[in-house]
Amino acid sequence: MSLERTLSIIKPDGVRKKLVGEVIRRFEKEGIHIAALKKIRMDRAQAEGFYTVHKERPFFGELVKFMISGPVVVMILEGENVISRNREIMGATDPAKAAPGTLRKLYADSIQNNIVHGSDAPATAKFEVSYFFKDSEIF
Ligand code: ATP
Ligand code: MG
Repeated sequence: MSLERTLSIIKPDGVRKKLVGEVIRRFEKEGIHIAALKKIRMDRAQAEGFYTVHKERPFFGELVKFMISGPVVVMILEGENVISRNREIMGATDPAKAAPGTLRKLYADSIQNNIVHGSDAPATAKFEVSYFFKDSEIF
């Protein structure tokens, strides 16, 4: 067991569909601590920098366009093994392949418009947490 932090984003489609409350409720119900939270609208440079690992992928341009299409809610989740637990709660990238009861199965429309983001490993979590939050914003 290890106490971890991970970055969660409620993507523009999740905000548009009024799922902010549902997503936060789910994390809290699972015993996950919300250590930081804010609503922002990313600009293009910020979204490109965030998704830099995907810059060679064919969907990169569309993904950036989608992520800047409206405000998002960024959060730091904290808890035991929260990086993989959050990925389980979210479900597979493609909602059609996501397990029953996962956020993406319940609420997502497509492989791109999949309502939430979650860091996928300790190194990416560290990068992504510090991409959006200063230490003084984390509780
Ligand atoms: P996230 O990083 O958002 O938590 P993920 O780790 O499940 O999702 P990645 O492979 O990292 O998926 O892809 C990042 C995001 O890019 C996906 O969440 C989705 O919004 C978009 N994406 C991934 N694959 C495709 C695709 N084939 N077509 C369109 N968009 C895609
Ligand atoms: Mg990913």
